Amino acid sequence: MRIDLHTHSTASDGTEPPAGVVASAVAAGLDVVALTDHDTTAGWAEAAGAAQRLGIALVPGTEVSALRGGVSIHLLSYLQDPAHPALAGVVARTREARLHRGRAIVERLSRDLPITWEDVVAQQAPGTVVGRPHIADALVALGVVPDRTAAFADLLSARGRYYVPYYAPEAGEAVEAIRASGGVPVFAHPGADGRGRIVPDAVITELAEAGLAGLEVHHRDHTPEQRARLAELADRLGLLVTGSSDYHGAGKENLLGENTTAPEVLAEIECQGTTPVVRP
Ligand code: AMP
Ligand code: ZN
Ligand code: FE
Ligand code: FE
Repeated sequence: MRIDLHTHSTASDGTEPPAGVVASAVAAGLDVVALTDHDTTAGWAEAAGAAQRLGIALVPGTEVSALRGGVSIHLLSYLQDPAHPALAGVVARTREARLHRGRAIVERLSRDLPITWEDVVAQQAPGTVVGRPHIADALVALGVVPDRTAAFADLLSARGRYYVPYYAPEAGEAVEAIRASGGVPVFAHPGADGRGRIVPDAVITELAEAGLAGLEVHHRDHTPEQRARLAELADRLGLLVTGSSDYHGAGKENLLGENTTAPEVLAEIECQGTTPVVRP
């Protein structure tokens, strides 16, 4: 069983539509794939239809933006009730904030570069949750950078001078909203210090007490040492350990199935979640 629990489609900042991600998962030889677009469930229906047609299991999820002491973190929510207002309300507010923040970043960039908000809109599918990758695509289209990775290395870096943060719920509040909505919260890439600040272990301990279910230990942004340390922390706190690709289609080097999750872990997530896994 090959299980990949973290991917993105054009419902947020991936480059393939939800059905395309599912088709790519089949081509990559996966048995189970989760669709976890940023702050939305808009891709679920299309992905579920494709999974049933193509004969693969789909775990519907969302990568929920959150903040802790000013540090931006991501929480994967699996199998929540998409209609429950607790989480749906929180992510709706975040989507709105992402839109204003995207415009603010473009406003800053436009002081030095010939970019407008219309250039960014031209790079998005209708209804997309806006993120820096769409601004990166506009910069590529304008010939300013060769690809998304080059844009993130400098112009769009969280440590760069054009960066603007956005509102997101406090981490504890997000964990509680996910649980209230019947979802299973897993801390995404908790040790990814290459892309910005990370939270200390004490915060992970606190979130475990608030209802966190697991840690995404196996992720390309973690070194072998970090994985060992995080696995030990998960063991100590009684948290599940997951592994996943964080696939974004052609927008990032991450390949489907490059990290995977054990079947027993998925069984436990399924047991704790409200919405069933879509099985062919
Ligand atoms: P934002 O959500 O607007 O803060 O943008 C950050 C998101 O961009 C993260 O979820 C990354 O996974 C994503 N991303 C997509 N492509 C890249 C890339 N080439 N380099 C770094 N981050 C990327
Ligand atoms: Zn992303
Ligand atoms: Fe993330
Ligand atoms: Fe992600």
